[in-house]
Amino acid sequence: MNDLLDCQLIQWPDDQAAYIAAINENPANAGQRSGTRRKRSVLHYSKLWANGRTLKIAFMDAPDAEHKAKIICAASRWLPYINLKFDFVDDLQGDIRIATKNNDNSSMLGTDALLIHPDHPTMNLGVKPEHEDFEVIVIHEFGHALGAMHEHQHPKANIPWDKPKVYEFYKNREMNPLTEEQVDSNLFASFDTLDAIYTSYDRRSIMHHPVANTLTVGDWEVPINRKISKKDKRLMRLLYPR
Ligand SMILES: [Zn+2]
Repeated sequence: MNDLLDCQLIQWPDDQAAYIAAINENPANAGQRSGTRRKRSVLHYSKLWANGRTLKIAFMDAPDAEHKAKIICAASRWLPYINLKFDFVDDLQGDIRIATKNNDNSSMLGTDALLIHPDHPTMNLGVKPEHEDFEVIVIHEFGHALGAMHEHQHPKANIPWDKPKVYEFYKNREMNPLTEEQVDSNLFASFDTLDAIYTSYDRRSIMHHPVANTLTVGDWEVPINRKISKKDKRLMRLLYPR
């Protein structure tokens, strides 16, 4: 399994604050109650940007021009499928703030970025521009920044994880080891947002982590998905319609 694809999707820990930020940005985030869905005591909402707006995207730590151009090129792969504009700036201020000097790849989920202190990044792109999957990783992180969840955590994914092996693997690896709790929240916990209402599970999604056959029961694996899938396009068109 490729460690560099092991991204951290970060959600703001205070759900009430995240909810308020989300509906202030875009009232449609409050969502609709659907008759087919079980009512639960937790809030269900999404973290989408106001449709039609321009997102200011800041490079906080001044990557060189070529590096920056590669990030812009990869991120812009989403643009044909969304009703948002990207305005990339060399600035410390932006709705999305990118840092490239750390080693990890992570992003806040959609409007949760609004809750991050303005001096701090909302997205880390530690992947080096010469990495063969640089573009894939940047597209994936921007998917989160637009509000897309991890596809392997889709409520209908039903991945036959060999859970004890998964815990072992992540606990013992050299780079960025994860506790059982982190494995639970990054791999096993399923989500329940508009993504799942709108689209079925898609193992080809660029938002799906690769799943190694050695970490599942039986013969089950997902290779690295290098392209925005048909379902990814459909989802983005539904989330940000023109
Ligand atoms: Zn991710």
